[in-house]
Amino acid sequence: MGNWIFALGGGIVAGLGMGIGIAVSRESKLKNSYKTTLSALEKSFSVSDDAIFIVSEEMEFLFTNPKAQKLLSIPKATFKEPFKESIYIRIKNDTQPLQECFDTVKRHKKETLYTLPDIVISKEEKVKNGKSVTMYIEPLYDQNRRRLFLVILKDIEQKRKETALMDTHQLTGLPNKIQAKKDLHRFFSQIHQKKHQKMALMVVEIDHLVKIRATIGDEQADKMLQSIANELQQMAQENGYHLYHTFSNHFLFILPEIESNVTIHAFFDTMQKKLKNFYTLDAANLHMSASVGAVIYPEGSTTYTIWDNCYKALDEAKEKGHGHCIIYKRAEIAQKYDEIKLYNAIHDAIEGGEFEIYYQPIVRTGDHEVVAAEALIRWKHPEYGYVPPPIFIPMLEKSGYIVELGKYVLSEVLKQQKKWELFKFKPIEVSINMSLLELESGEFVSYVSQKLQEHQVAPELIKFEITEGIAMQNETVIAEQLNALKRLGVGIALDDFGTGYTSFSYLKKIPATVLKIDKSLLENIVRNQEDQQIIHAMIELAHNLDMKIVAEGIETKQMVDILTEFRCDYLQGYYFSKPLPVFEFQEKIRFSSKVDTTLSEPKVQNALNTPPVRSVNQRIREYQKEDEDDILELKE
Ligand code: C2E
Ligand code: MG
Ligand code: MG
Repeated sequence: MGNWIFALGGGIVAGLGMGIGIAVSRESKLKNSYKTTLSALEKSFSVSDDAIFIVSEEMEFLFTNPKAQKLLSIPKATFKEPFKESIYIRIKNDTQPLQECFDTVKRHKKETLYTLPDIVISKEEKVKNGKSVTMYIEPLYDQNRRRLFLVILKDIEQKRKETALMDTHQLTGLPNKIQAKKDLHRFFSQIHQKKHQKMALMVVEIDHLVKIRATIGDEQADKMLQSIANELQQMAQENGYHLYHTFSNHFLFILPEIESNVTIHAFFDTMQKKLKNFYTLDAANLHMSASVGAVIYPEGSTTYTIWDNCYKALDEAKEKGHGHCIIYKRAEIAQKYDEIKLYNAIHDAIEGGEFEIYYQPIVRTGDHEVVAAEALIRWKHPEYGYVPPPIFIPMLEKSGYIVELGKYVLSEVLKQQKKWELFKFKPIEVSINMSLLELESGEFVSYVSQKLQEHQVAPELIKFEITEGIAMQNETVIAEQLNALKRLGVGIALDDFGTGYTSFSYLKKIPATVLKIDKSLLENIVRNQEDQQIIHAMIELAHNLDMKIVAEGIETKQMVDILTEFRCDYLQGYYFSKPLPVFEFQEKIRFSSKVDTTLSEPKVQNALNTPPVRSVNQRIREYQKEDEDDILELKE
């Protein structure tokens, strides 16, 4: 590439998502090997997805990679054949020549690259047709100690397009199922801020599509679906609803605010009339129609079950024939339980020992060895028998008793862990579901620390599962608490990933090491290629973020095979075992010969029967010391 030497402050040009990650050692070492290093750098830069160039303070370009040549419309530069060019950038509304940044870069003493996020760059002085990029700059020297700058441009327009593409349906360009689930979370939050307000979900299946496709051909049928999408979109806009194309002939409406069932039925009637005129197959006496399943929140469903209930309603509608609309009724609440009775009984139930913890095994994908378990609460009501958690957890959250329940679950699990240690079972990490209300109470971390000490259980044997949650108000406080939990040594997993309550952007905010993909996302994985691609991409992305993946709701061998192929790390579901009372669960781990500790981070280092390498007290003392250090640092 030429006669020049890198003399980087921290000595590292990191990957930055460029697809490369090359370490450049200090100047003295480089003198012997710089040619090899430079040639490797040149190769890496040339295949990078980012635009990279090296430029002097006088704007003499000494190296440009192909992406930079394309993005800025500049020629190839080499150290032997440099050229001069002016470059301008726009930061917010201010336009300036690139050189003006260089003085700031020289003063930038940090170990990180100097970064300007979201700027526009161009050769034109007015930066009219520029490109939106994030710019990283690192100062370097050449052999004659001349100051140079390594500039990396990350094309954010492209990234924005790719993200938008991931969230839209390829055929119609409408937002897809992923986007729908993301939005649903937002609408729940809105509805929770308004008392007595209701929202609805409507899933629409276009009837007879297979027959129509067979009659008019694939291409025409796709065109027809596109026109239907346009028509439905217009209807959505007129009413302030949101439309999604979730799957082949399935569309979904979110109605952010509705009065009653009447709104849904009226909307359904209008839609049916429009569809009827859309396409007629005279020979088969066939009119276009749609079957609709709907659910109203909160009266027909909890946030957990809204999606599934909507499909249950659609299933019922289809059983009636084509062109029907069914609104889901929360049968279990309406018929089986008296909600008020349950609500009043909750406090006594905690006191009276009506709750019991079940354990569901989590197995390692390769050999199906049980390596962990999830603690799942069961309420044995004196009158109703077992009441499912989706019925009573929302009640506990509403009343605040969830904090008390969380304390109960933690101490039961810790007692159990101690028993297993005494009876020489292999160490099994147990995940506990945590409500964000517990974290928001502010005393959670010190409570956990105190309990671990009291029961003398290694923190690495406990993991907390959190969902983004709808009640989440104070992200900074939550993130601080989770970091404190992590420092304590307990693990953190992000639960129900893909249900709309969680997203990849959320991952950056919380220190989770494990991602649990929700069963609703895996349901169609066997039949639907698109779902397979989404799951595969999700697993790869999480692996890139150094996270382990647990797939939940595994019910069949086919699901196991697909997820094994996708390199999912751990599996949980009825195929392996339902949640079990503790004595039945013990049978699964008692005779197990192998130990796995990889779900924990940091790892549980104790082999079968030996106590943890660092004692619990030691671990907790370290945590308290770290906190004191933090405080001292702040004071300084
Ligand atoms: P989750 O944390 O996602 O737990 C997984 C749920 O999926 C459990 O339901 C489990 O029984 C079920 N499941 C596991 N494998 C399969 C399968 O192969 N097929 C199907 N159809 N289902 C499967 P469960 O026990 O009814 O719990 C529901 C939710 O209630 C949990 O979802 C969790 O969010 C919450 N929950 C349960 N126990 C507690 C607790 O102690 N505290 C808190 N805060 N929430 C809890
Ligand atoms: Mg869970
Ligand atoms: Mg889950």
